[in-house]
Amino acid sequence: MSSTDPKTLLPPSLAARVSALTIKNGRAIAVVDAAGLGTKDRADIERAISDTLGQREDVSETRVVLTAERRQRRLIAVGSGKGGVGKSTLTANLAVALAQLGHKVGLVDADVYGPSQPVIFGNQGQKPVARDEKLVPVDSDTGIPVLSMGHLVEPGRALAWRGPMAGNALSQLIDAHWDDVDTLLVDLPPGTGDVQLTMLQRFKPMGAVLVSTPQDLALIDAARAGQLFDQAGVPIIGLVENMAGYACPHCGEMSDPFGKGGVETAAQRLDLPFLGRIPLDLAIREGSDKGTLPAAGDDLLAQPFHDIAAKIHAWIGAQS
Ligand code: ADP
Repeated sequence: MSSTDPKTLLPPSLAARVSALTIKNGRAIAVVDAAGLGTKDRADIERAISDTLGQREDVSETRVVLTAERRQRRLIAVGSGKGGVGKSTLTANLAVALAQLGHKVGLVDADVYGPSQPVIFGNQGQKPVARDEKLVPVDSDTGIPVLSMGHLVEPGRALAWRGPMAGNALSQLIDAHWDDVDTLLVDLPPGTGDVQLTMLQRFKPMGAVLVSTPQDLALIDAARAGQLFDQAGVPIIGLVENMAGYACPHCGEMSDPFGKGGVETAAQRLDLPFLGRIPLDLAIREGSDKGTLPAAGDDLLAQPFHDIAAKIHAWIGAQS
């Protein structure tokens, strides 16, 4: 059976999806990477390929084989019940810490309504290019490739998008040229809205990490976000407490502006693993604002991120 280069027979938008094409004795077989496609998109692409090849004189029958992921790439979602609890900060630092543990990490900033990863990674203003109708992630000094709505729209422009648009934006960010990335962290918008639903329907994550401050209200919302994953059969890797314990920069005295230990207690109550606690520290905010990630260092500030990443690493290892 002779192999044919799909690019010579199919338009680029279809060829990009076809990993193998053979034509023999009037029979064409196209192997299509259907990763991330919904039922309708799968049917559309199948029909488009059959129609195109069916017009050829040397083809009397076309078989389209839809395969799942071209490469097994695990998605790990990072969610929270409400905004401002440090979900983006945690995701970015976990990406760096997991990469240090040997994973090939990429980061999708799916917080389409308030994308902050371009600032955290210091690559704001850079525009991702498109190749074969898919986005190419933007590099960062940390070596982590990143894709964010913040790279696609002007900073500060409110994204008053309705559900389907937000969901499609997510698909574009995830279904991009991630090449050798094996672990894609997805920084979700807070809550349980359309982006979360799209994520669960089209790209089921391997697991989810939930972050909360210790306050009761943030915790109740985080538990609700957890329920959504649970119902969709996505295991919760564990809960993280952020902004726990504040060291006064003048006298060093520790205080707990948002309470202490609430997330760990909640994790026990919900029967979920507790992954760790990150202190409220001005240096974390300052680092995020100027594109310097604490986890890239090896001081005390980096430690909690590395400890949490080590637990996620162990969890991933236990799944295979
Ligand atoms: P979210 O993604 O939940 O909306 P962000 O990660 O954007 O939250 O964090 C909100 C703000 O709080 C940012 O300015 C960030 O730098 C700051 N921040 C997050 N975690 C900490 C922390 N542990 N200590 C100090 N500032 C923090």
